[in-house]
Amino acid sequence: MAELPTTARVVIIGGGAVGASALFHLAKAGWTDCLLLEKNELTAGSTWHAAGNVPTFSSSWSIMNLQRYSTELYRGLADAVEYPMNYHVTGALRLAHTKERMQEFERAASMGRYQGMDIDILTPSEAQARYPFMETHDLAGVLYDPNDGDIDPAQLTQALAKGARDMGQTIQRFTPATGVRREGDDWIVETEKGEIRCEYVVNAAGYYAQRVGEWFKPFGGRTVPMMVMSHQYLLSEEVPEIEAWTKEAGGKLPLLRDVDISYYLRQEKHGFNLGP
Ligand SMILES: Cc1cc2nc3c(=O)[nH]c(=O)nc-3n(C[C@H](O)[C@H](O)[C@H](O)COP(=O)(O)OP(=O)(O)OC[C@H]3O[C@@H](n4cnc5c(N)ncnc54)[C@H](O)[C@@H]3O)c2cc1C
Repeated sequence: MAELPTTARVVIIGGGAVGASALFHLAKAGWTDCLLLEKNELTAGSTWHAAGNVPTFSSSWSIMNLQRYSTELYRGLADAVEYPMNYHVTGALRLAHTKERMQEFERAASMGRYQGMDIDILTPSEAQARYPFMETHDLAGVLYDPNDGDIDPAQLTQALAKGARDMGQTIQRFTPATGVRREGDDWIVETEKGEIRCEYVVNAAGYYAQRVGEWFKPFGGRTVPMMVMSHQYLLSEEVPEIEAWTKEAGGKLPLLRDVDISYYLRQEKHGFNLGP
């Protein structure tokens, strides 16, 4: 492994999807002398466990815009950085059980249209045509997002890391940051392998972000507002009906999301991934 640099413009702490994306985007903006520190292997944190659903739906304009950008980035990333990835754009059906939920969907659909996305509102029977296994008796309507899909989060992170490295960025794995201090206008990032002087530090430490954030408190930093939650999904065995449908249709079922009952259901090979 290369020696730890002693200076960098930016030091990013954390090599999950967020840290790797920050490193990649800094390089694209021309900041190619940045360093990412990962205490373990890249993707060792939450990124390793993510189901990898890639929605564009949001009730917030800016989050929707960020997610729209991500879907556009992911579509071209494998070719751009020459790192193959599993990215399935399956579309998603978001179920509404009430009139009020439909109003929320209509608002989101119009925001999406303004951002150039073809988000549609469907009747329950139109939705059933896209998802024949669905019962529709208690539905008020459905939002269809053709851009929704799923990506392999570890492959995505490695692709971003490769793109960043190819543009000159440095990644140091198995190098935990242990603290920071200020010297003049510079930050000094401390590690067990030495210190790095830099202009900026990015805290991308995932569920450790609050702990890393504490280091900045003596220099005017604030508590990083977050809490850690455990989250899980269940993978089913293969379902013969899904296998038969997939062979006939030649593709995957769209993702189902039901925020009223609170789950997503995704086709995973010929079975399901249920995320409560
Ligand atoms: C079961 C599950 C399902 C999920 N499903 C989805 C989904 O479908 N879609 C979706 O978008 N999101 C999903 N998520 C959420 C997603 O995984 C996280 O939002 C995302 O991975 C966070 O990325 P991150 O880079 O911020 O954090 P992490 O991946 O946790 O990366 C932080 C990194 O920082 C490193 N680190 C910490 N402290 C230090 C230090 N002092 N020095 C150096 N390195 C340090 C850690 O080792 C870690 O690798 C899911 C999460 C779980 C658990």
